[in-house]
Amino acid sequence: MASRFVISLDFEQAWGMEAERAYGAELPGILGAREAIPRILDLAERHGIGCTWATVGFLFFDDRDELLSALPKIRPHYANPALSPYARMESVGRCEATDPLHFGRSLIRRIRDCPGQEVAGHTFSHYYSLEDEDDPAAFEADLEAARSAAAAMGVELRSIVFPRNQVREAYLPICRAMGYRTFRGTQQSALHRSRPRHAETRWSRLLRAADNYWPLAKPSAPNQPRPDSGMTDVAASRFLRPARSSPAMLNRLQLRRIRNEMTDAARQGAMFHLVAPAEFRARHRSQPAHPRSHLRALSPARGQHRHDERDDGGGGR
Ligand SMILES: [Zn+2]
Repeated sequence: MASRFVISLDFEQAWGMEAERAYGAELPGILGAREAIPRILDLAERHGIGCTWATVGFLFFDDRDELLSALPKIRPHYANPALSPYARMESVGRCEATDPLHFGRSLIRRIRDCPGQEVAGHTFSHYYSLEDEDDPAAFEADLEAARSAAAAMGVELRSIVFPRNQVREAYLPICRAMGYRTFRGTQQSALHRSRPRHAETRWSRLLRAADNYWPLAKPSAPNQPRPDSGMTDVAASRFLRPARSSPAMLNRLQLRRIRNEMTDAARQGAMFHLVAPAEFRARHRSQPAHPRSHLRALSPARGQHRHDERDDGGGGR
């Protein structure tokens, strides 16, 4: 079987996290996406790399009133209210020009128009499927809102990434009915399985972070796209953690681990699915930008595939 290289990036701006983080420590990264995304697209086009961009539905808008009128009537109820983005709606600005944290239409247009790129779903509201007290009606309403927001830009959503990797198996038939054909499953190890926030411990988070640098959780079998509930699971292989200001040594360890696993996948005729955030933080001017250095480091293993390739039933995340 031919090996495959899949790249998916989660594009969510301020909607991908709780307000405290989005408007605090993560703010530079979110604003950095405005610079990083066009550069990633330039590199992708120049090197013929296809990426899947899992995009939060709120970002399809460029007008506050339009966004507010498109909000679904049925909404999820999370035990932790800080998870819900709807409480923040009143503070959203007028449009993308004045509020680049909450709107993203111009960037989506660039992604859409760049050859080989797939605009995919990341739910409308960055929906946490394992936090909603099992509410399929709210999930369906959310996906319906995402579908119509994307359609207004001429985009058909075919692949979905569950926020925080909270894949709820019972919701896969809903995704299928909404037109999705592929989803991004979790990495194959107990360390990375889907779980709600309250099931997380400091220890599990620490182990997961350490697994980026040292092989703590070896996959049990080569990664391959596999059928699940009428869709194809294009499971993640590894998350690319953006390098922060200091840990150059850790970053080298991470890239080495990714390269080794990519090489293994290529030899085994397997799939390697690299996951990254779209929000790369801008670095000091004298340092190389992350997207370029990462893409360069990874470039020996070319032959990337978009999520939505369906040559043998495989594809999207
Ligand atoms: Zn996300």
